[in-house]
Amino acid sequence: MNNQNSFPYHFNSNTCKTCGGKCCRGFGGYVWVSMEEMEKMAGTRKMDVALFAKQYVKKVEGRLSLQERVINGEHFCCFFDLIDCLCTIYQSRPNQCKTFPFWNQFKKDPQLLFFECPGVSFS
Ligand code: SF4
Repeated sequence: MNNQNSFPYHFNSNTCKTCGGKCCRGFGGYVWVSMEEMEKMAGTRKMDVALFAKQYVKKVEGRLSLQERVINGEHFCCFFDLIDCLCTIYQSRPNQCKTFPFWNQFKKDPQLLFFECPGVSFS
């Protein structure tokens, strides 16, 4: 069980093994990445960072976000393995993914996590 004292909920990361990647898929949203994170992910893929950016990153309002695949209207992170339901770059995933579900937006409105993450509990 993971806790962060300033958040009104707990997180059990063991649930990630069976939830089917709810935080890596959905109906919109962005996975923001920095240049440094992009270099790290490119390294994991043994790719040149420029090629990596062209293939997996898009620009949104001046920021960088991972690309998605859309299947039957549902958005999937480009690094989400649809068969195994796992992140294929887990060791070098961006900070946004590492810090989920402890995001400020959920601190203010934790009910949103009822739909987003079965690993979260409020007791
Ligand atoms: S980088 Fe990995 S953990 Fe982050 S959204 Fe994509 S598949 Fe999920």
